[in-house]
Amino acid sequence: MDLHIPIFDGHNDTLLRLFASKQNDSFFDSTQGHIDLTRARAGGFAGGFFAVFVPSAPDEQPANDGDLPERLPFAYALETALAMTALLFQIEAQSAGQVRVVRTADDIEHGIRTNTLSAILHFEGADAIDPEFHTLEVLYRAGLRSLGIVWSRPNAFGWGVPFRFPHTPDIGPGLTEAGHELVRICNRLGIMIDLSHLNEAGFWDVARLSSAPLVATHSNAYALCPSPRNLTDRQLDAIRESDGMVGVNFHVGFLRRDGRRDAATPLDTVAEHVIYLVERLGIDRVGFGSDFDGALMPQALGDVAGLPRLLETLRRHGFDEASLRKLAHENWVRVLKKTWRG
Ligand code: ZN
Repeated sequence: MDLHIPIFDGHNDTLLRLFASKQNDSFFDSTQGHIDLTRARAGGFAGGFFAVFVPSAPDEQPANDGDLPERLPFAYALETALAMTALLFQIEAQSAGQVRVVRTADDIEHGIRTNTLSAILHFEGADAIDPEFHTLEVLYRAGLRSLGIVWSRPNAFGWGVPFRFPHTPDIGPGLTEAGHELVRICNRLGIMIDLSHLNEAGFWDVARLSSAPLVATHSNAYALCPSPRNLTDRQLDAIRESDGMVGVNFHVGFLRRDGRRDAATPLDTVAEHVIYLVERLGIDRVGFGSDFDGALMPQALGDVAGLPRLLETLRRHGFDEASLRKLAHENWVRVLKKTWRG
């Protein structure tokens, strides 16, 4: 039995942690937060979507309570997003070949074979994208392959969901005209559109407009935890019909039925969401979307080094090795092959 099935993951906020530390923290060897290269190797973490998330203020954490924050000023959003993007390329350059910013699904498969950590450049919110899409075009050429239209704040393209509990994701209007155009351009370039954080009206706009599989990188089942960050059964049905997928989020507040931020949440609660989503979507349409370095993890998981314990929990719940490999990385590779050009 292979205890270290490589795990490719739908979402982390490690760039935010490193950016906020102002060079007092290292990707390569750190005891802070949830991911560094040493612990990644210990946990069988093959890589994932590395989010560029622009905070409202230098020390703001990505999960806060209450209403939607204000729109970000564009110049500030662009400057900050470019600094965080540069940070990812600096990590790649300093890694002596151990970290690679990937641009194709073949790159990810190659990384798994050669034990190289694969990082997808992902923007969590299009706040740094101008409405004429010049930045998008340039960022695509630099390596941007995944984009959340919004984080939980409004921007020129759409509206996100607030961090209230319990609360429906059906709040606020659909995408703006610029948002419609953004979907078309992402389809044309082959940039994956991430639906996590988007409100329900925006979700249905993307479902109607997009030619790509529908993907939520780090969200759970609303039926098990009524957070607006989670997906209703109707949304899950649309994701299945598009042959897309969902990355299961390990944030305890998006897992627990009571929504409490209590780290004493067993890994069985993660398994319950995986089982529910697999029943609803099929075994080919579920993966992981940890939210490492951006959320409160179950104590039993701890950090990225604890991933083998999650696989062990899923084994106990009856998942065989072939299913675990799908959940761990094969489904992400499958969807990205269908979404990206090359
Ligand atoms: Zn997020």
